[in-house]
Amino acid sequence: MSQHNNHLETKLIHGAQRGETQTGAVNVPIYLSSTFHQNSFEEFGAFDYSRSGNPTRQALEEKIAELEGGTHGLAFASGMAAISSALLLLSAGDHVVVTKDVYGGTFRFVSEVLKRFNIDHTFVDLTDLDEVSSAIKPNTKVIYAETPSNPCMNITDLPGLIKIAKANNCLTFVDNTFMTPLYQNPLDLGADIVLHSATKFLSGHSDVIAGLAVTRNQELGDKLAFIQNSFGSILGAQDSYLLLQGIKTLGARLNQSSNSAGRIAEYLNAHSFIEEVYYPGLPTHPGYELHKEQSTSSGAVLSFKLPNKAAAKAFVDHVRIPVFAVSLGAVESILSYPATMSHAAMPKEERELRGITDGLLRFSVGLENVDDLIADFDQALKVAEKEADSGVTVS
Ligand SMILES: *Cc1c(COP(=O)(O)O)cnc(C)c1O
Repeated sequence: MSQHNNHLETKLIHGAQRGETQTGAVNVPIYLSSTFHQNSFEEFGAFDYSRSGNPTRQALEEKIAELEGGTHGLAFASGMAAISSALLLLSAGDHVVVTKDVYGGTFRFVSEVLKRFNIDHTFVDLTDLDEVSSAIKPNTKVIYAETPSNPCMNITDLPGLIKIAKANNCLTFVDNTFMTPLYQNPLDLGADIVLHSATKFLSGHSDVIAGLAVTRNQELGDKLAFIQNSFGSILGAQDSYLLLQGIKTLGARLNQSSNSAGRIAEYLNAHSFIEEVYYPGLPTHPGYELHKEQSTSSGAVLSFKLPNKAAAKAFVDHVRIPVFAVSLGAVESILSYPATMSHAAMPKEERELRGITDGLLRFSVGLENVDDLIADFDQALKVAEKEADSGVTVS
């Protein structure tokens, strides 16, 4: 049966593979087997050893390849394992151009690990394509993007960036964690590898740490599969199963969370105590038009700026519904404080240049009733504002 023309919400659930063919079980079984018996001395079966391939992991890998429209899907032990493995396609003497808003773990891998292997990098503001062009050197092999970026939701013009990459014989890697294949398909726009922290929206329940990569063509897929097997940082069968289950509900979860995020962004934007709201769905966002051209939704993550650290602290202390934690993309709303959480390692001046001020909070919208979330924000902001006016902490 061809599922080719179905919408992504349908493909999330059915797609090319359907449960298990021998028994009709609707869920892919968890194959807890490290090794596989070979029936014949001379001809081996599809699987031999689970680092190289496991049927549960393969079902997940085929699923993400189908959703992103690539030739190969590959599942890794974490988002960082997927990203690091993809960057291991580079060789000593190569150079990579990386967005300066890149995820902290990727920043660390590029600047502290790749560097030791003589793989050089330049961090660039990817919202400025002229800056990208001038950063390219004769040995540049990869341009690495993240859009929207974290936490200020800067938008990169993907078709424009990919055009520059192609003109210079570079590959384009895109971390698509924030949008997921539901809202943005970088391979369709010409990117070469799409990467995911599947820990976030794809799994969606704050239970699994996982990473996924999808390649544009067979050659890159074979190369990355070779690295996956050589480096060995694969996703286990049980986590592969949990992630497959999470992916089935991605449509329902992310659509609801994104609708709520739009409402919350508007609420915050109209609030006099909030200095700035960063959300690509607001017409005032500098990347609003660009994002609309390359994505089908603004997503479920936004950031907002309170006047200072004391106000941010008062807000966090008084808000009741969200979890205060790192990470994002879960059924529970997650509030985080980039200055001391995701971007703690960055010097204060560097942080502030990127808009990560002491009053900035990031909010990943979950599946709670949006009116409850807004009412909760409203009462917490009232306290924060009162404290700011009086200089006294309300307990
Ligand atoms: C969380 C995250 C990562 C890292 O993924 P892990 O699963 O934590 O290793 C990479 N990129 C983005 C955008 C992320 O949010």
